[in-house]
Amino acid sequence: MTTNKTGVENGALAVVAEGVRKRYGPLEVLKGIDFDVSYGKVACILGPSGSGKSTFLRCMNHLERIDGGRLSVAGKLVGYRERNGKLYELRPNEIAKTRIDIGMVFQSFNLFPHMTVLQNIIEAPVGVKNVSRAEAIDYAMVLLRKVGLAHKRDAYPRTLSGGQQQRVAIARALAMRPKVMLFDEPTSALDPELVGEVLGVMKELANEGMTMVVVTHEMGFAREVADTVTFMDGGYIVEQGSPEAIFNSPQTERAQAFFGKVR
Ligand code: ADP
Ligand code: MG
Repeated sequence: MTTNKTGVENGALAVVAEGVRKRYGPLEVLKGIDFDVSYGKVACILGPSGSGKSTFLRCMNHLERIDGGRLSVAGKLVGYRERNGKLYELRPNEIAKTRIDIGMVFQSFNLFPHMTVLQNIIEAPVGVKNVSRAEAIDYAMVLLRKVGLAHKRDAYPRTLSGGQQQRVAIARALAMRPKVMLFDEPTSALDPELVGEVLGVMKELANEGMTMVVVTHEMGFAREVADTVTFMDGGYIVEQGSPEAIFNSPQTERAQAFFGKVR
C-alpha cells in the first residue's frame, strides 16, 4: 500500500502533482508544483507567457521528463514505475501505455495532413488500442456529430477552418476514450470569430463530466466552466481557488496585476 496521494486507493484524484520540478539546463521552469484535480472536474491554468504552463501540461503526458517530485494521472505514475521507494523510467512502449488514458489538444491542431478527418480519428484506436475498424468508425461518427462535423468526415484538414480543425483534434483525442483531457491554449491560434465554436465543444464536454486541465487565456470560459483556477507565475503556483475567488479577489500582487485588479 502506498501512503502518499498518488496511491490508487485514492481513486477520486485524476491528477496529482507533488513537488514537481523541471529544468531546461540552467533554467528551472517548474519550481515545486503541488496540484491536483478530482475526476469530473475542470481545472483552468492561467498565467503570463513563460510561466511554465505548457511545460507542466507536457509533463502530465510525459512529453517532458520531470526532474523532481512525482506526478500521476488517471491513477498511473507518469513515465515511471516505483519499486522499493525508487522511481525507474519506463521504456517507450510502456510510456505509450501510460498515455492511453490521457487525451491532449494543442494550440496548433496537429492533425495528420495526409489523412481525412475520419482517418485522423480512427488512426489511434485502430493502431494502438486494436479496436476494430468498423467499431472505430462508428464511434468516430458519434464524436463527429458531437463536434458538429459529421459532414466533413471525408475532408482533408487543409480544407477546414482552424476552428473545424481544432474540433476534429478534440474528437481525435476523445476517440481513445481518455479519462483525462489536457488542453494547451486550444483557441490561441484561432481567428476571434472561431474561438466560440471550440469553447462550446469544450463546455459541452465539461458538462458531460469529462475531467479536464485547460491552459487558457479565455477568462470568460474559466469563469463559467472551471471548478478551480490556478494562477502560475515564474514556475510557481501563486494562487489557486474557485474562479470567483481568483478573479474577484486575488490575494497576491502578481495575480492582482495579471487580472487587472490592482488595489
Ligand atoms: P508558458 O506555457 O507558461 O508560456 P512554457 O512552459 O512554454 O511557458 O515555458 C516556460 C519556460 O521554459 C520559458 O522560459 C521557456 O522559454 C522555457 N522553455 C520551454 N520549453 C523549453 C525547451 N524545450 N528548452 C528550453 N527552454 C524551454
Ligand atoms: Mg504555453
